[in-house]
Formats: sequence, structure tokens, C-alpha cells
Amino acid sequence: MGIYLFNEGVGQKKNILGGKGFNLVEMKKLGLPIPNGLIISTKVCTNFFSAKENLNEETILEIKNKISQLEKTTGKTFGGKNPLLVSVRSGAPVSMPGMMDTILNLGINDEVLENFIKITKDENFSYDIYLKFITMFSEIVFGIERKDFEKIEKIEKENKNFSKKILLEKFKNFFYEKTQTHFPTNPYEQLFLAIKSIFKSWNNERAKYYRKLNNISEEMGTAVVVQEMVFGNLNEFSGTGVAFSRNPSNGENEIFGEFLLKAQGEDIVAGIRTPLPISQLKDKLPKIYEEFLKISTLLEKHYKNMQDIEFTIENNKLFILQTRNGKRTPFANVKIIADMVEEKILSKEEGISLINIEEIPQILCGSFLPEELKNKVEITKGLPASMGVACGKAIFSSEKISPNENCILVREETSPEDIKGMATTKGIVTIRGGATSHGAVVARGMGKPCITGCENIKLFEENGYMEIGDLKIKEGDIISIDGQSGKIYSGEMRISKNEVNKDLEKILSWCKEIKNLKVKMNADTPEDILNGIKFGAEGVGLCRTEHMFFQEDKIWAIRKLILSSKNSEKSSETFKEILEFQRKDFVEIFKNLNGLPITVRLLDPPLHEFLPKTEGDIEKLATLLDIEVEEIKNKIAELEEVNPMLGHRGCRLGITSPEIYKIQVQSLLEAGLICEEEGIKVNLEIMLPLIFSTEEFKFIKQYILQISNEIFEKAKRRFDFKIGTMLELPRACLIADELADECDFFSFGTNDLTQTTLGLSRDDSTKFISPYREKNILSKDPFQTLDTNGVGKLISLASNNIKLKDKSLSVGVCGEHGGDPLSLEFFKNINLDYVSCSPFRIPTAIIKLAQLNI
Ligand code: PEP
Ligand code: MG
Repeated sequence: MGIYLFNEGVGQKKNILGGKGFNLVEMKKLGLPIPNGLIISTKVCTNFFSAKENLNEETILEIKNKISQLEKTTGKTFGGKNPLLVSVRSGAPVSMPGMMDTILNLGINDEVLENFIKITKDENFSYDIYLKFITMFSEIVFGIERKDFEKIEKIEKENKNFSKKILLEKFKNFFYEKTQTHFPTNPYEQLFLAIKSIFKSWNNERAKYYRKLNNISEEMGTAVVVQEMVFGNLNEFSGTGVAFSRNPSNGENEIFGEFLLKAQGEDIVAGIRTPLPISQLKDKLPKIYEEFLKISTLLEKHYKNMQDIEFTIENNKLFILQTRNGKRTPFANVKIIADMVEEKILSKEEGISLINIEEIPQILCGSFLPEELKNKVEITKGLPASMGVACGKAIFSSEKISPNENCILVREETSPEDIKGMATTKGIVTIRGGATSHGAVVARGMGKPCITGCENIKLFEENGYMEIGDLKIKEGDIISIDGQSGKIYSGEMRISKNEVNKDLEKILSWCKEIKNLKVKMNADTPEDILNGIKFGAEGVGLCRTEHMFFQEDKIWAIRKLILSSKNSEKSSETFKEILEFQRKDFVEIFKNLNGLPITVRLLDPPLHEFLPKTEGDIEKLATLLDIEVEEIKNKIAELEEVNPMLGHRGCRLGITSPEIYKIQVQSLLEAGLICEEEGIKVNLEIMLPLIFSTEEFKFIKQYILQISNEIFEKAKRRFDFKIGTMLELPRACLIADELADECDFFSFGTNDLTQTTLGLSRDDSTKFISPYREKNILSKDPFQTLDTNGVGKLISLASNNIKLKDKSLSVGVCGEHGGDPLSLEFFKNINLDYVSCSPFRIPTAIIKLAQLNI
């Protein structure tokens, strides 16, 4: 029940066999050279927990039965003359690197040792096998620390008469001292103890923490793989290694990994000895290298994914121990996917489905500014183990990493105990270990920059400093790390954040063929618009004109406009000034868009947001307007509102102060005429904010048409533009069918719509939302992820009614939810025409929409 030899596991699912076991069965089926073995499935693990941590008789008998079958296939005996030694490993259905435990060389005892010496004719080696087993077994099954054995070994080695035989006795005595029992000699007893403790390790603290961090179910349990030992430490023609079928750091299509001759796997994973790059295997054991390359390509094609392969060479024969989809940086992932699609290993759809959209922002948050690099000299360099850049305080232990500060964790080497610190640090540096050590693998999985093997660093953890040559860096000093070059700098460096690489570009272009909803950008300046186009935006869905005034010189113009007396000389001067800079900005914007559509929203926020707050600013404004400070203060007081969010803002401004909208419309249309004259197509929509009634809309629309007629008549030219509205108040959604008679287009402003539907202030929302989430009243922040049950109903109602009136009226969304991956499914399902979001969220939205359409 639930125990399978590798050839018997065919057809069983991964949640039964565990990831490792499932792959071994698959590799066996592919005819790859793997050591034989058996899988004790997750079913046995769950039974074990329900039987109060006991293996029942039936299970014990079946395991014994499978071992005797294994004895037949290998021609060896468990505890016998030609001894069968096994490895015992955990293998959960979901990969949990470093979380669970492994025991090697199980099945050895004093008698087996003698037999083993006879067969290998290598006493030294045979003793090493035994000593290693005692150390690992004692640590995992009995919780005796490995370093205690290492201490004994160190002391013994200083002894002139040192011999491994004596060391073995010392180990056994130490075991007795610690446990008051003799070290178990019966191989079956060893095996059952090992299996039980691996099952138990499913519930150790670090495994639980990893599961919580990665949303892995507690119920699943782990399988155990028992496999014939092959010895990478047998002789000079033996070795062990870990290699990726492609480079996990930059995605290049080249085999990437490390090996050590005369060593066992744990030596590499623990980062204890620094291994050699895999390319050197080509010189040392060329046939093995070639065979490995072939297997790596075959595995990649079979699994349709980049593979992380563990192998052992025993006396010039290659064995594959394990393969799994390799962890990689987000950069590497997009390159690997783009390449695999082009190499026809994956279809476009398969490739797109493999993108983890949460990683896209990391790709876009990528490198130190070139000017920073010019001014800084690296202080040391290590192995570039995981891409990305980070700056922060150098901190020497995981417990001291604070989630509220930027920290870089600097360690001798990392171990699974560091997982908590690694989850919150911005980057990781280790002194020992190669590109496949624990630190590197975990960092890559987390998408964090990591540098390993920084052997120039001398760390004095207890004294709170590290040394690199003459340079002393105290714990808490700022350092900057570049996981792509492996370079470390002292001090802080600025980071450039808008890299769309060519692989991502390719993927985005495939996504565009597949998705059926347009993605536009929310952008207000010519520069942002260029950025958004680079990211794949199909136009501007929202240009918030008030953001165009957020610059030192422009803000003074708008302040003058608000506070100057109507129809005064100053006010017409200010009008002219604003008209000119807005027109200039719009010309540049239209040019950058080159015919792509843009929806420009007329001024929206409450006027008081633009008013001077400090005495100094008030005085400056009084001078500029040539009026008394008191007069300014009175006007400011007049404009003050108790609840500005529901006050004098949006289209109300256009109704009470039409001159402001007038210059905005004038600058837009004049800019359009200039561009059209130069042959640049202008695709303009003018959008009115915060409309709640058709009368409001009609009033302003009339006004805009009147202005446009005047401008076009004067210019003797015209171009078409549209006038539409935002739907950001519940009433507007409810009368959308009526509005549809007047509006040329619609865009849901889900920020205000959420605020006004839920009656929660968008500015103060954290005060309500955090406690609501803690108390499980809200599962998500409705200002981030659309409240589909409430706000969503208003949106579907309005959009259905608009489309019923006139199918050709375009309906989009421009609130923050337009860039939220979790809300996109809803917008797609109700058949909106587009979503609009900030430039950095565009690639994520494009990919997510394509994934939803696959
Ligand atoms: C909205 O309310 O959703 C919107 C896009 O407008 P703003 O955020 O500028 O109020
Ligand atoms: Mg709004």
C-alpha cells in the first residue's frame, strides 16, 4: 500500500510520489541511468501522522519486501556481503529547497564496513562512508549537532596516533553519551528510524515557515525516496555535481553548474568545498560530459522547462540522481521562455503560461544608474548568483534583518535557518559557496540579488564588522550589490528602473496577439508617455491634466490663476502663460504618441490642493499678484472645504470657473492643429471628471463645442475629437444609458467609484482597511483589488446598458484597478474595451490578459 519501486510508480500522481519520486519514475521511463530504488508515498506519511507517528505492520512488511526486490535488481544485499547502501531523502510534492532532510550511506555497520573494505579495497574511503553516515544519521534522527562530531574529529586529528578506526569508536561513544543507547546496527532499524524522522521533519519549524511563505498546504505530507547509493567519492574517476540545463542567472542557453571530483553531493549543496565550473568536466571526464549534455537536452525537451539536475559519477559511470524545474531569476525566466518558444520546445501559449507575473516588476527594477558606476569603485567581487541590484545596511545575522529597513544580509554561508531573514532582506552576500549553494538557490527563487563566494571578505560577526583588505565595514554601514556582475560597492547607489529587455519585448508581442483587451497607460508627461510606449501601451487611457502642473514654475502659474481677481490684468497674463505651456506640452505628447489615442481629462482635484501652505509661499504669491498677503489669506479661507473629496472638484470646477476648462480645451485643440499641420495624426478624447448628471455633462459639452468652433473657425481647419465622461460616482453608473445619448466614450474611475460606493475615504483608507483585513471583514484592500460584488455590479450594469444603447461606444477603466492582476479577470469577463494603468504595470497587465485568454 503506497510503496513503489521506480518502475512500479508509472501512472501515479506527483502528490502521491512527491516531486523527487515522480521525476525518478519519469526518468526511469525515459531510460536514463538512475540508481534503482523505491518510493514511500505521501499516503504512508499521512497514515503515519494519523497513527500517532507510527508505521504500521503492513507498511513495514511491504518496505522489507521492496528492499528484497531491490536487492535482486542490484545484486547486492542490505547488510550483507556485497552490501547495498541506500540514501534516504524526503521529497514533498512541491519543491522545498533545503527544508527537509537527507541521510546518505544508510545500511552500514561494523560487519558491512569490513565487507565494504574488501570490495572497494579502500579502507580510508570505507571508513569515511561510515563516519559520514553516523554524523548525518545522528543529526537528523537524534538531533545531535554535526559540529559536535566535527569537533571530536578535529581534536582526534591532532593526535599523533590518529586513525579513522579510533575516530569511529569515539563517534559511537559520543553517540552513547548523548542518547544512552548504542548506535543502531541493524540496517532495517536504521531505515525505519530514518523514514520516521523524515516524515517528522515535515513539521519542523523551517518547513512550516517555508510552506506558510509559499502558500503550500499543510495536509500534503512528504514522500521518502530510498535509493541505491552511488559513490561520487569512490576514486579520481568519481564525482558529483549539480547543473542547470541553462544559465539560471541570465538565461543563456548553456549548461551551467558545478562539480567536485571525489566528493558526495552534500559537499556541494552545503557550500563546504568550493566546486569547479561544469565546463572543466569537459577536460577531466570528456565522455561523461558529452553524455551529460545529451541527457540535459533530453530532459529539457521532455519537461518543457529548464532543468536543475543532480548527478554522480561512480568510477567513470554517470548516474542522474534528480531533476526538477530549475529556479531562476526573473530575468533568466523571460529569456529562457522566449528562447524555448523560438527553439519550438514550447508553443507561444505554453511559454506565456510559464511567466510568473509577480516577477515582472522585478525585471523592470533593475540596474545601477550608469553615472553611479562611473563614480564608484567596487570593493570586492564574488560569484554573480542571482540578478538584480540592491542597497542597504550590511547585516550579519538573519535575526537582525528588519522588514522596515533596506538590509543586505552578509553571511559566511546561508543555511535553511536563514530563510526568514532572506525573505525580508533586499539582497544576500555569502563568503563561501558556489552558484548552487543554498543562498544562491533560495535568492534566485525569491528574485533577490545574491552574490556568493566572496572569499575576500573576512567576517567578524560577533564584533560587528567585516574586513575587505584594509577596508573595515561596520555592521549597519550601507553597501550596494549587483547580482549580475557580482560586484559589491560601499555606500548607496541610485537604481535605474525601466529596462524592458528584448526577451520581454518578444513575449509581450506574443501576448498582444493573444489577449483581446487593449492596455493603455495612465501618463501625464511626454517622458512618461515614451516610457509607457516602450512597455507596450496602446495609447493613453488617462492623462490627468492637474499632474501637468506639478512642477515648480507651473504650480505658480496655476496658483496665480486661482487667486487672481477674475478679469484682472494679472489673470489674463496668467491665462496666457498657462495656455502656452499646456499647448507646448500637448504638442510634445501628441508627437510622442504619433496617432495613438489619448484621453485627456480636464482639471479634476479640489483647488485648495494647489494653494500655498507656508507663510513664505503666501508672501511670494502676494508679490507675484501684486496684492496684499491678507487678501490671499482671505481667498484661501474662502476656498477651504470640510470635505474636499466631495466638494469643489471635478466638473464642478468647469461649471463654476469655466475659464480654467477654456484654456485647457484651447491649448489641446491648438496643439492638435499644430501637429496635424505637421502631418501628425491626433487621436484625442476629452474627458470630464466626476459627472453625476446628464445636465452637467451637456452643459460643459456645449461649452467645449462653442470653444472648439471658435478655434477651428479662426484657424480655418478642424480635426475630429470626442467628448466623453468618467464613471466614478454610483449615480453616473446608474444613469449610464441616459449619458450614452450624449457621451462619445466612457471610462470607469474605479478609485473614486470605490470611495463613493463603499463610503470609505481613499486618502485615509489604511486606517479602516488594515483592521478590517485583520478581522477578516475584508479579504483584500478594495482600493487595490476591485470589489467585484459591489463596485463590480455597478460597473457591469453601466457597461451593459451603454453597449445596449450603442455597441460602438468605447468603455474602459482607468482607476488603479486597471493594473491589478487580480481585477483584470473581471474586466475581461465583462467585455470592457480597454484597461489603463501606470506605465510600470503595463507589461504585467498585458501578460496577465494573455494568460487569461489561453
Ligand atoms: C479614479 O477616480 O479612478 C480616477 C482614475 O481618477 P483619480 O484617481 O484621478 O481621481
Ligand atoms: Mg477620480
